[in-house]
Amino acid sequence: MAASADAKPILLVALGGNALIQKGQAGTIDEQFANLRLPVRQIARLSRDWRLIITHGNGPQVGNLLLQQECCDQVPKLPLEILVAQTEGQIGYMIESSLDEALMEMGIDYRPLISLITYVVVDENDPAFAAPDKPIGPAFSEPEAAALPYPTMKTPKGWRRVVASPDPVTIVEKREIRQLMEMDFIVVCCGGGGIPVIRHGRAFEGVDAVIDKDLASARLALEVGANMLLIVTDVPGAMLDYGGSGETLLGRVSVAEARRHLAAGHFPPGSMGPKVAACIRFMEGGGRRAAITSLEMVLEAVADKGVGTQWIGDG
Ligand code: ADP
Ligand code: MG
Repeated sequence: MAASADAKPILLVALGGNALIQKGQAGTIDEQFANLRLPVRQIARLSRDWRLIITHGNGPQVGNLLLQQECCDQVPKLPLEILVAQTEGQIGYMIESSLDEALMEMGIDYRPLISLITYVVVDENDPAFAAPDKPIGPAFSEPEAAALPYPTMKTPKGWRRVVASPDPVTIVEKREIRQLMEMDFIVVCCGGGGIPVIRHGRAFEGVDAVIDKDLASARLALEVGANMLLIVTDVPGAMLDYGGSGETLLGRVSVAEARRHLAAGHFPPGSMGPKVAACIRFMEGGGRRAAITSLEMVLEAVADKGVGTQWIGDG
């Protein structure tokens, strides 16, 4: 164990969907690798001064796997927990190999890094299970949707399958991740929010649900004692009156103020809402700094150059 590693603060970077697929793209693997270069190069530079955890979304990737399943009846259909595991594997591989290359370009020939399949415990009595409301996968016509063996909901894109999005309770691999941090590994984990599991005594059972990756990231950041949570997305930060005439970027903000704006409905569920909620939870749980920023501004946000929406503790 490198003694110096312990002295470096821990940064958790949560990458949004646009780190892999940008608006208007088909989402080919070439496009995804090309998109990853921007965030990954910045993360490689941060690795000199920080111990790093990288988490990521998986919405379009898991959506594509669901669509592939709808198109084929010759093999058994896979449950969502397995599809989430598949996306953790594919995206983990892409981030890990891109990062390895970026580190080598910087002349850092050996920095250990690893991507981990991650389970996240959820509570079987979570109210989300009674009212699934997270749309996933392809859109169907109303008659097609009525024939599907799972709940669906009308969305702007058409009728889509809906699943529960329960709150993350704990990251099963937190001890392993802490040990990897002590050894200065860069860890890619909690992809797509992690594989949701319910605990039965000493056993885990995977469930058909999805966990919000920003809330899972906040949970993990607290469980490993991260100093900073950085949520990276496709807008400069959290905005008030988003899309309206009074749209303004929130800069430095307190937990109380963010909570007020969240309650007033400025940050919708499923997009900016969980990002702001994740930062609030992290700061309230004892985190030192949290920020929401765009893909281009990762280095500036970490260097505290006043970009994005930022929470800074007084401890
Ligand atoms: P990610 O893949 O990064 O998690 P999301 O689509 O879940 O991205 O969330 C980012 C999106 O949230 C932005 O593209 C924006 O359209 C939307 N959004 C909704 N409300 C707000 C707001 N108040 N401020 C900023 N962005 C907002
Ligand atoms: Mg999101």
